[in-house]
Amino acid sequence: MSEKTAIKTQGLIKSYGQVQALRGLDLEVVRREIFGFLGPNGAGKTTTIRCMLDMIRPQGGTIRVLGLDPQADPVAVRARTGYLPGELQLDPNMTVESALRYFNALRGNNVDWGFVRQLTDRLDLPLKPPIKNLSHGNKQKIGIVQALMHRPQLLLLDEPTLGLDPLMQREVLRLITEAKADGATIFFSSHIMSEVEAVAERVAIIRKGEIVEVAEPAALIDRALRRANVRFKQPVDIGPLANVPGVTVLSQDGGKREDFPRYGTSVSLQSVSLQSVSLQVEGEMDGLIKALAAFPVSDFKTERPSLEEVFLAYYGDDQKEVK
Ligand code: ATP
Repeated sequence: MSEKTAIKTQGLIKSYGQVQALRGLDLEVVRREIFGFLGPNGAGKTTTIRCMLDMIRPQGGTIRVLGLDPQADPVAVRARTGYLPGELQLDPNMTVESALRYFNALRGNNVDWGFVRQLTDRLDLPLKPPIKNLSHGNKQKIGIVQALMHRPQLLLLDEPTLGLDPLMQREVLRLITEAKADGATIFFSSHIMSEVEAVAERVAIIRKGEIVEVAEPAALIDRALRRANVRFKQPVDIGPLANVPGVTVLSQDGGKREDFPRYGTSVSLQSVSLQSVSLQVEGEMDGLIKALAAFPVSDFKTERPSLEEVFLAYYGDDQKEVK
C-alpha cells in the first residue's frame, strides 16, 4: 500500500448467516480525497465501514486503513479516525455537553474544547439540554461533532447529513471540505446525490456487495445517456436520424416524456414524418449534430441526466430484491 493510499480493501467477503453482504469488495481511497460511497439500502455500505474499524470481521479479504491493519491495530486505527455511525446510540439522560465530554474522555481528554465549541456554534447545537429532549437533527449533530472533534486523519461518515435541514446540510458539507483542507481523508456514504455531486471528488457505486463503478461524478454523468429534443419547421422523415450510431428515438410529436431509460433498454426506431422528436444519445453529440444539418431545425435542446438518474440507471428494477 503506497503512502498515498488512505483505505484499501481487497476481496472483502462478509456474510451474516445466509446473507452475503460483501462479495469480494475492492476499494482504494487516496489520502486527502473526499470519496462518496453510493448504493441502495442493503448494498453493504455500513458493513464495509464497520469492517474498516474492526467492529465486525470479514470472512475473507484484506483491509488497510492509513497503512494499518485494523484487525491487528484496531486502537491505532480508531485513534486516527472519526466515525459517524448510521445510528448513534447515546444515553438519553446525558446533556449534550456531558455526552461530548464523555467522547473527549474516550480520546484521552486530548480534544481542543475551543474547537468543539466552534463546531457546536456552527451547527447551532445547544449544549445544555438532555439528549432525550433533542430533535433527530440535533442528535445527528452530536454524532458529527464527536467524529470531527479530534481533527482525525480519516473521517468515515455514514450518511452525515441525514435528518438535517438544508442550511445545516450545507454547513456539514463545509466542515467536510475544511477537514480535507486540513489534510483529512473523507469517506462518506449518502443517498443525497446533489451533495455527493457538490463535494465528492470520486464516487464508488456498490451493488449487492460489489463495487460496480468508481469515477468522478462529472465523468459518470458525461458517460451517461443524454436526451436531445428537436423541433422542425415542417414535418420531416426522421429515418436518417434514427440511423445515426448511438441515437435512439424516444418519443415523437409531443408523446409521453419518459425518464432517462436504463442502459441497454431498446426503443423501437421509426421512419415517419414528424414535426418534433425526442432522442436518446449515447456518447458524443457530434454524429447527431452533423445529421441534423440536413434538416429544417427550428429548435434544439439537450438535457444532461443528473447523478441521481445515473445512479438509478445502475439499479432499475433490482432495487426491490436488494433488501
Ligand atoms: P443502508 O443504506 O440501508 O444503510 P447498507 O448499504 O449500509 O444499507 P448494510 O447495512 O451493510 O447495507 O447491509 C448489507 C446486507 O447485510 C443487508 O442485506 C442487511 O440486511 C444485511 N445485514 C447487515 N447487518 C446485519 C446483521 N447484523 N445481521 C444480519 N444481516 C445483516
